[in-house]
Amino acid sequence: MLFNALRAFSIALICSFALSAPASVAQAGIVPASRADRAEARDIFKQLIEINTTDTPQGSVTAGTEAMEKRFLDAGFPREDVNLLGPDPRKQNLVVRLRASAPSSQKPVLFLCHVDVVQALRSDWHTDPFQFIEKGGYFYGRGTQDMKDSDAALVATFLRLHREGYKPKRDLILALTADEEGGKFNGPQWLLEHHRELVDAAYVINPDSGGVELDHNRPVVADVEATEKVYADFQVTATNPGGHSSRPRPDNAIYELVTALGKLQAFTFPFEMNPITRTYFENLAKQETGQMADDIHAILATPPDQGAAARLSVEPSFNSNFRTTCVPTRLSGGHANNALPQTAQANINCRIFPGHSPEEIRRQLIGVIGNTKLSVRYVSDAGQVSETAPDRKAIVAPEPI
Ligand SMILES: [Zn+2]
Repeated sequence: MLFNALRAFSIALICSFALSAPASVAQAGIVPASRADRAEARDIFKQLIEINTTDTPQGSVTAGTEAMEKRFLDAGFPREDVNLLGPDPRKQNLVVRLRASAPSSQKPVLFLCHVDVVQALRSDWHTDPFQFIEKGGYFYGRGTQDMKDSDAALVATFLRLHREGYKPKRDLILALTADEEGGKFNGPQWLLEHHRELVDAAYVINPDSGGVELDHNRPVVADVEATEKVYADFQVTATNPGGHSSRPRPDNAIYELVTALGKLQAFTFPFEMNPITRTYFENLAKQETGQMADDIHAILATPPDQGAAARLSVEPSFNSNFRTTCVPTRLSGGHANNALPQTAQANINCRIFPGHSPEEIRRQLIGVIGNTKLSVRYVSDAGQVSETAPDRKAIVAPEPI
């Protein structure tokens, strides 16, 4: 199902609003996009997909943001409202401001987007990831979902609002940024530290998650994200004096690591709910039927039905909304075919439910592994390894508005 395929990409805890009928934009006094508007949006989308913005020697975020800068300037946006800036020449951010009709005392609304994409190897793809292809009603290319689709929609919308002379009650800001997928914080963090005046806002709308979900082109649900799980990597290491493999010792770093991973495989973090996920599943229950609907009702009960939670957890997108998850993503060990391994190491990637800190999860992993000979260290986003993990927790989700 496309729904769940989309949701699986999101680590967000999402609040949904069911759409009772296809939105009637005419009723709301909004003029639907013209054929030319739609063609322009598609053209921007294609252009962004075909610019390689990976964090690699071949990639350049600047190539993407410069192309968008040109579109805004060509459309007549004032130079001072189109800012291309950043500390790294390959990772320039673009910040565009659509001014209010009169200087407003209300702070702006910021639309925060990223232009960088994850590395894509041609050999892993059926099509060229940097070629924009439309086939069978789908778009193919790196970034078609994360998130050049939204980048293109917002660039096209800002251009259209300007072209139609729309004057908002407060300034609207669009920030197309670097380093969301990786890299060393040249994006929003740098903008906040060095040019806060350009991005300072009352509200930030980040279209990187959520959005309208379609069922055969019919909009059924609008997802809005209220908080996120915390991302954390942990390095589990088994060490051993080693020796020659012709004379094996009873203990072995690879066996010890594999045993630890087996325990992690058998372990499931407890089922949890917060006001946001509760509201989400309450609404989802109305959309679903049969066993699925029954199971969703059962997890909403007090206490939640653990059997129903287990059945629903088979679906990765549900499981990730129910609990903290930790899973091995990389493995290394040994140094020669004829030597006993002196080290064996795995990376454990965790997505931590709001209310828990990486340090709390690190201690829990140590307990699950239950072998004090193995170390469990925290690996920061920048790749630095430390003995303990941060105490930072995700914000507790507020009650849905
Ligand atoms: Zn993204």
